[in-house]
Formats: sequence, structure tokens, C-alpha cells
Amino acid sequence: MEFRRTHYTSHVTPEMNGQTVKLAGWVHEIRDLGGIMFLVLRDREGMAQITLFKKTIDPEVLKTAKALSRESVVLVEGDVKAEAKAPGGYELVPIKIDLLNPAKSPLPMDTTGKVDAELDTRLDNRFMDVRRPRTQAVFHIRHHMLSAVREFLEQEGFIEINTPKVVATATEGGTALFPITYFDTEAFLNQSPQLFKQLMMSGGMDKVFEIGPIFRAEEHDTRRHLNEATSIDIEASFMDHEDVMVILENLVVYVYEKVAERAVPSLKTLGIELTIPTAPFKRLTYDEAIEVNNENSKEFLEWGDDLSTNAEKVIGKFIGEHYFITDWPTEIKPYYTQPYEDKPTVTKAFDMMHPRMELSSGAQRVHDHDMLHKRIQDQGLNPDGFEFYLKAFRYGIPPHSGWGLGAERLLMTMLDVDNIRDVVLFPRDRKRVSP
Ligand code: ATP
Ligand code: MG
Repeated sequence: MEFRRTHYTSHVTPEMNGQTVKLAGWVHEIRDLGGIMFLVLRDREGMAQITLFKKTIDPEVLKTAKALSRESVVLVEGDVKAEAKAPGGYELVPIKIDLLNPAKSPLPMDTTGKVDAELDTRLDNRFMDVRRPRTQAVFHIRHHMLSAVREFLEQEGFIEINTPKVVATATEGGTALFPITYFDTEAFLNQSPQLFKQLMMSGGMDKVFEIGPIFRAEEHDTRRHLNEATSIDIEASFMDHEDVMVILENLVVYVYEKVAERAVPSLKTLGIELTIPTAPFKRLTYDEAIEVNNENSKEFLEWGDDLSTNAEKVIGKFIGEHYFITDWPTEIKPYYTQPYEDKPTVTKAFDMMHPRMELSSGAQRVHDHDMLHKRIQDQGLNPDGFEFYLKAFRYGIPPHSGWGLGAERLLMTMLDVDNIRDVVLFPRDRKRVSP
């Protein structure tokens, strides 16, 4: 049986009226209305209506059509007929239907969107959930988002690197690590490429980026945390925190623009009209952020407190668009962020925020070996475990800065998706490691 892609038509238009084409896909819907039968064929580009006029159709074709089950894979050869009422503006009058692989009934979930499935059911049957046009659209947009990220960073002179995910030391200390057995010793899944991308600054690569998994063992149960997330990370030499903030805001704008331009059908499927943010984003100092919170919330924050989820929401609502929070108290940011020379209680760290949540954290980094050593110690960590990292600071490392941007958070806020699990194919959370 013929099934190779090169032998059939991938894109049919109403202008092809009268031509004979071959289409392959899944049987999305079957409607038998007495004198006429409709099959809706679905592929990743959309839907095509197959119309069988029972009086004139070849009885063999009708017999095959009648025996079809939903979600079976078929190849249909037929004549294109322009038909304004059909999806795509045409229908196909079949000459031949080949059943390539039948689907069993009942299906584990509905693919037409007529019956709402619970998130858990959809995730348990993700292969089938992805057949739903809405789900498929999300992942097409994710593809466009990541390809725009790569494109932008490459244009800015960044080189893509890959760093290990199995590591011997925590990036930031603390307990939020997944331990693994590594031969006869213990290792961990890396929570961030931070230390490795900094090593490449000592390596003279100047501007690097990585798009890869980060593992966080916190027992979150929120709509914006995963235990395995995708981080878009950059690190750049001879740049300060303000330089990399400009790269970050321009990247966000670029990604929105390219998605709006290139993912038109997917955005339409989701019913989304993207509002492209404008750069530069507002900059609030941490002090100003605290003030906004304290004037607009019942929850009072003191200088030195981290921003709670509620504070992020209150400040986000007040600002109403993407913004930065800069100049954080040194003590609540990691040891590798660079304090201001004239005011060491404040550090050159920033968060980039969407009104709903944090999207990115970044900073100028400490590049002085002795200061870094001391800061690791001051945070209660053992510098011995960081020797592989500290070593690179003894032999010439330029001043440098960088950030990490959560890919899922960028996507979920762009598409106004409520739950982060909806923008990951196979989410990993406290309760889910399979599929
Ligand atoms: P939060 O305070 O929101 O939990 P964080 O400050 O712990 O985030 P960072 O260590 O600053 O996170 O990581 C940089 C970015 O990576 C975050 O701004 C976020 O976009 C993303 N990120 C971090 N942890 C997670 C997670 N568990 N799930 C999804 N994305 C995450
Ligand atoms: Mg952060």
C-alpha cells in the first residue's frame, strides 16, 4: 500500500478545484446523514472534509468509509471541489480510501474538543491530546518561540553550548536537588547551567547561550513550577547587568514579533491576538517594588524580604506590563551576584517580570576570586566543593553578566495559559514522572 509523503499532496486549496489529490491523516469525525456521508480528515495543517454522495460513490469506497473508526489513519484519493462551507474552502470527493492503520474503540479521550477532558486524562494520554488542534497549536508556537530565541541570540553574537546535567555539586547549595547514583558515588541533576556557563567566560567564549533542562527538587504544587523545566540561559563577558537586561527585553520583544508573524494559524486556533510588548521595559528598584506592594497590599514587606507570590501579583497588577526589578538586597540573591562597590548591601541583580509572575533572574557576576570564595563561605557553603569553579577565577576571567529565562513561563504568559503543565509535552511534577 502506498503511503509515502512524497506521493501525496500536502497542501490543498480551493483553487485546485477539479484536480485529483491524495491526502493522508487521521479520521477526526464521521457523520453519516442518510444520502450523504462526511468524513473529516485531520493532519497537522488542519482539517479536510471528505464528502461521499451515496448515490454516485463507488460501493467499495463507501464500504471502506462505513467501516472506519475515529482516529484511524487513512489515505484518501479524491477530486477537489471548491465548497465555501467546508473547512479550508474545499471538499474532497473520494475515488479511493486506503485504511493504513485502524484505531481501536473506544478512544482514551476525545480529540474533537467537544468533550472536555481533565488535565490528568490529557497528560496520561498525551500522544492523543497532541492530536487536538489546540494542544498541537501550543507546541507549534513553542517551536517558533525557541527558534526565534536561537535566531535572536545568534544575531547578537552568542554561541550555543551544552553543559552537563549530571553534576557533583549544587549550583546554589540548599537541598533542592535530585540525587542520583553515579556508579559508586552520588551525583545530582543540575539545577542550573550557571557555573558552567561562567567557566566559558574564563574560556574566552565571550557570549554563550544554552537552552536546556533544569531540575528543581522543591515539592512545589503550583501552576508555575515544574520539577524539570527548560531554561534559556545566557552569559556574556565585558557586559554589566544593564547590558544583559537590554538583551533580555529585546529578546522578549523579538520572540513575540516572530511568533505573531510565523505562527498565524496556531494563534488563530487558540483565539489569541498577541500584544507585542514594547522595550525598554519599566525598571523598578527593589525598594520601589516593596513600596508599591506596601501601598497596595495587606501583606507588609520589610526591606530584605523576598517577594511573595502575592507581592508579585500586586506589583504586576500595578505595573500592568513586563518590567524589571533591580538592585536587590545582597543577602537574598545568590553568592555569584556582584554587590555594588559603593553599597555592598545591594547587588547588581535583577528579575524580569510578567504581571503574572517572574520570568527571569540575572545579574552581573562576581569575577574577583577572593570575593567569590568569601561569598560562598558566607552563604554557609563549603568552597572545597566549588574548587572546579573557583579555579577558573584565578587565571583571568573578565567581568561578566547573564540571566536565565524560563521557557515555559515565557510561553504560558505569552499565550495566557493558566497552568504551566499545558505548555510542556511531558511535565514532571511532584506526582507525575510518567509518561
Ligand atoms: P521562583 O521564585 O518563581 O520559584 P526562582 O527565582 O527560584 O523562581 P531562578 O533560579 O531565578 O528561579 O531561575 C530562573 C528562571 O527559571 C525563573 O525566573 C523561571 O522562569 C525559571 N524557573 C526556575 N525554576 C522553575 C521551576 N521550578 N519551574 C518552571 N520554571 C522555573
Ligand atoms: Mg529567580
